[in-house]
Amino acid sequence: MSNDKPGPGNGKKAGYTHFGFEEVPTAQKQQRVREVFSSVASSYDVMNDLMSFGIHRIWKRFVIDLAGVRPGEKVLDVAGGTGDLSREFRRLVGPQGLVVLSDINEAMLRQGHIRLADKGVVDVPLALANAEKLPFAEGTFDCITIGFGLRNVTDKDAALVSMTKALKPGGRLLVLEFSKPLNAGLAKVYDQYSFRLLPLMGKLVARDADSYRYLAESIRMHPDQATLKGMMENAGLSRVQVYNLTGGIVAVHRGYRLD
Ligand code: SAM
Repeated sequence: MSNDKPGPGNGKKAGYTHFGFEEVPTAQKQQRVREVFSSVASSYDVMNDLMSFGIHRIWKRFVIDLAGVRPGEKVLDVAGGTGDLSREFRRLVGPQGLVVLSDINEAMLRQGHIRLADKGVVDVPLALANAEKLPFAEGTFDCITIGFGLRNVTDKDAALVSMTKALKPGGRLLVLEFSKPLNAGLAKVYDQYSFRLLPLMGKLVARDADSYRYLAESIRMHPDQATLKGMMENAGLSRVQVYNLTGGIVAVHRGYRLD
């Protein structure tokens, strides 16, 4: 499958990458992404419910079920933000298990900490970390997830390698991310929604239209299902399977580290 996303920036110049449809020096992308999430952190959860009509909860439920986390396991939630996945994993691993909530952004982690505490979850350690170079020993975790995070990472291949290394042999990585709608009709409606309504909602609720314009653009620039599957295999994962949700608007990729 080709990765023929709309918008400029696909023919990247050396030393440049895309930030939505904008081409920016590679060294600047992380800071631009940081500004987006620092700006939206306090309204992040409300916006998620609004923008997805609550469907993000079903997508996350699917990932949790597919992860098959068992009591006593060690789980890492990369780019975990406000902790939706961590909260449920914490319940599943039980008292002998461990769940670490990690993110590159302090504001998002702070929000996650408050939210978990509000729900009575106090035993989830937080780790301020870049997915591209995770600060964990090789072979630490049984399961790693990255939910709606990979799209924002500058060097996605480095992040996939770093997450794969942090898995124990036999461990699994699950990537939950926006993807490419399978049907042209759905893609058309979805484009109208993303480029017209999302920035408007962002402006009204989060007082930040630009961050939600970035959201729509970054989704279009993200590798499609087949490309991401190949990237995961290149990173050393095996038995990679793809699950399309809501007509491919979102996809879950699951792969295993075998050795
Ligand atoms: N996983 C949460 C969820 O599904 O609700 C939060 C997803 S939010 C859309 C994306 C998160 O990715 C933000 O919290 C952001 O700070 C984080 N992020 C962006 N770049 C990152 C990186 N290089 N390493 C780790 N986290 C990153």
